[in-house]
Amino acid sequence: MITNNIERIHSESVQTCNLCMMEMENVYENLSLSSEETDLLDMPKRSFTVHFPVHMDSGKTKMFVGYRVQYNDARGPTKGGIRYHPELTLDTLNNFAFLMAIKCALVDIPFGGAKGGIVVNTKELSRGELERVTRAYIREISDYIGPFKDIPAPDAYTDKHIMVWILDEFEKIKGKHVPSIVTGKPVELGGSKVRKIATSLGGICILEEALKSTDLDKSTTSIAIQGFGNVGKNAAQILYREGYSICAVSDSSGGIFNRGGLDILKVIEHKKQTGTVTDFPDSKNISNEELLTTDCNILIPAALSRQINQENVRNIKAKIILELANAPTTMDANRLLVDQGVMVIPDILANAGGVVVSYFEWIQNLNQDYWDEEKVREKLDKTMINAFNSVNTICAEEKCTMRRAALQFAIKSIIHAERLRGNL
Ligand code: NAD
Repeated sequence: MITNNIERIHSESVQTCNLCMMEMENVYENLSLSSEETDLLDMPKRSFTVHFPVHMDSGKTKMFVGYRVQYNDARGPTKGGIRYHPELTLDTLNNFAFLMAIKCALVDIPFGGAKGGIVVNTKELSRGELERVTRAYIREISDYIGPFKDIPAPDAYTDKHIMVWILDEFEKIKGKHVPSIVTGKPVELGGSKVRKIATSLGGICILEEALKSTDLDKSTTSIAIQGFGNVGKNAAQILYREGYSICAVSDSSGGIFNRGGLDILKVIEHKKQTGTVTDFPDSKNISNEELLTTDCNILIPAALSRQINQENVRNIKAKIILELANAPTTMDANRLLVDQGVMVIPDILANAGGVVVSYFEWIQNLNQDYWDEEKVREKLDKTMINAFNSVNTICAEEKCTMRRAALQFAIKSIIHAERLRGNL
């Protein structure tokens, strides 16, 4: 079960990269990029491997392998997560780091893209071993990271506790406080209160912008959400509080449906008590497959990749899909959705709220000036709306999908920064 979950998260991210990479070739062509430009984009600026020994609880020493890829820093210091995974490779990290550069350029925050991690299954380590592995990795890469070089963050199988060890080890090496070295920290050590809900907040902000061009009215708009974890549950709660009707939600055990709308606060309570959303009173149990094809206005996949695929795409009834999960739509299905006139709000735009709030955490740490929640939310909205407008303008001018427009905008911005620097 644990191994399955590890595989799920990793393969889901790999899928996201593949989808964007496939579309990227079209974007390069569309932008008529020269070979100099594509060569520059196709290679990471710096990628390296470190090998380091760690004392294990058994008394023996074990060697570990760590990586860091700093893909492109034309727009600012590189930024990206640290992932612990037994099948991590430098190749996969290259793709993730490139995607981070794209996301940061798309939401116009002054960062490039990075990604790194350690080849390890965290479930096989004690807490003490996990801490020693983390600190040893940071000692190896400390010369190459920093608030104005490369800023790590949590990713699959790393969390705020691991970010604290990174912070502490880095500060010990440098002999001074450097809170801006890492984001995703606990609030008490300079982290952001809003980070936990940032991805959902950012996605909903984009959705509301998109709805302005439709005749959908909040009170009669029905929404189905797949996944009731950090992103799906928070999205459901925020939308419910804003007055939308959530007709279906699901988790790994299955889904529930009520045409008149579910009381999401009660569903959250029910899941707390029973561990699942299923068997909620005043609702009908449905399968995840049924949730995806539910009669609703908006479908929000917020669980796994490849959920909307060739098998079910023709039965999708929603006219708007907000991709909060990474790569929930396969390439083939995406094409059919476009043909069917469905508005697909792509993952790289829809779920970028997290990295935006990480950028705000970095600014606050640098200035030692901490904002209240209202200010963070206000600035998040502004950033997301700007990104939406940039994408929307390209869509209108070029009559292309939002995914193509988003990638195009980001690539153009990176190339422009490289030109300004004289690198092209
Ligand atoms: P999570 O692990 O907290 O939640 C995942 C949810 O999906 C759980 O409710 C789980 O029960 C449900 N699920 C699993 N299998 C399912 C199935 N077959 N059908 C329906 N539901 C199923 O994860 P999360 O942090 O909420 O992330 C969800 C998605 O959003 C992932 O694709 C993730 O990569 C993406 N994402 C998350 C963030 C973030 O800030 N957490 C940022 C960007 C993208």
